[in-house]
Amino acid sequence: MSLLSDSPPWASEEHGMFAEMVRRFFAEEMAPNIDAWVEAGVVGRDFWHKAGAAGILGGAVAEEHGGAGGDIGFDAIALYEQARLGDVNWGMGIQSIVIHYIAAYGTEAQKARWLPGLVSGETIGALAMTEPSTGSDLKAIRTSAAREGNLYRLNGSKIFITNGGSADLVITVARTDPEAGTRGISLIVVEPGEAEGFSRGKPLKKLGMKGNDTAELFYEDVKVPLTNLLGEEEGQGFYQLMKQLPWERLLIAIQALGAMDFALAETVRYVRERRAFGQRIMDFQNTRFKLAECKTRTEVLRAFVTQSIGRLIDGTLDAATASMAKLYGSEAQGKVVDECLQLFGGYGYMAEYPISRAYADARVQRIYGGTNEIMKELIARSLDV
Ligand SMILES: Cc1cc2nc3c(=O)[nH]c(=O)nc-3n(C[C@H](O)[C@H](O)[C@H](O)COP(=O)(O)OP(=O)(O)OC[C@H]3O[C@@H](n4cnc5c(N)ncnc54)[C@H](O)[C@@H]3O)c2cc1C
Repeated sequence: MSLLSDSPPWASEEHGMFAEMVRRFFAEEMAPNIDAWVEAGVVGRDFWHKAGAAGILGGAVAEEHGGAGGDIGFDAIALYEQARLGDVNWGMGIQSIVIHYIAAYGTEAQKARWLPGLVSGETIGALAMTEPSTGSDLKAIRTSAAREGNLYRLNGSKIFITNGGSADLVITVARTDPEAGTRGISLIVVEPGEAEGFSRGKPLKKLGMKGNDTAELFYEDVKVPLTNLLGEEEGQGFYQLMKQLPWERLLIAIQALGAMDFALAETVRYVRERRAFGQRIMDFQNTRFKLAECKTRTEVLRAFVTQSIGRLIDGTLDAATASMAKLYGSEAQGKVVDECLQLFGGYGYMAEYPISRAYADARVQRIYGGTNEIMKELIARSLDV
């Protein structure tokens, strides 16, 4: 299966060739490394460099900034292929989000400075919104960026930051005006290598996604130049975040689809080999019905996701529809992976079986990127106008 199985109208020959290239690259360079990443709690920089050199990170970035000048369908394909291979550790999703923030809001000087490194994999990106005291209620963030001459002085902390342990560039959501509510929020780019007072907590131990360096970040009088404000105007952060949400949410649905294709392929292979009561597990009607349900959910999601990618490309994907994709996709993934694991019997509970890891990895999809309860709020709001 692939993201392009149904030949969505936005998919060109270039998208098809890119998908084949990415699949080959991941089979050779990602698959053999997943166990080591999980063991180490982080993806090695050599993989970031190789992926950058292969052109995987820059599909949707302008050529003048080191990319291939394509549309966001290229990022969607890479994210799908990663999930279809059973990996959640490499933080390409966040890297893509960071790239799109800089491409959308950065000044020409900022784009020229930051995009080439993000595309080549030399620079690892992170997006720091969540704080220990607030996640869903983003308006309540406390991290401050006070203006002092030609600098901002940042104070505060962030938690659960994907790629946080190794990020070289952290888009930090901070309050530049404590009195101005959402109009007082700005996005400040912090480059840890150059920022005194910036520190990271120990890697967070998680239920799944064990090979990603999810971290807590601390800002103690961190000084960054005013030119690190993303864009030209203070107080635009909340608006900038809201505008990028459709991609962040759709991306989670794309990862869900890849993970469901992965779980199904693993399970079908297993139940066709394993036997009980003199027949294949596949031959029990319960197995066939469960797999039929899982396949149906997967194909419904594929249709929704590929349609939504088309709408994102042509600029018509609204926040409520992207929230529906995130909600439906992550719920369907949880259900499918759970049903698949059951068909493995006791082996499904053993860490060495990839379905067991897929089960643990799936859980967070209902939590991050805005919890599914928040998705329902947003969808309901679109009905109540
Ligand atoms: C592995 C992982 C990676 C992450 N990566 C990042 C990252 O890269 N960058 C980043 O900024 N954040 C990241 N997060 C944080 C994530 O986005 C937040 O955890 C999430 O938004 C929820 O916030 P919270 O944990 O503070 O929960 P809370 O906001 O405290 O919510 C607790 C519960 O209350 C419910 N709730 C809250 N408000 C409402 C409401 N209005 N109506 C109904 N129910 C409600 C929630 O749905 C949830 O069930 C990550 C989290 C994890 C676990």
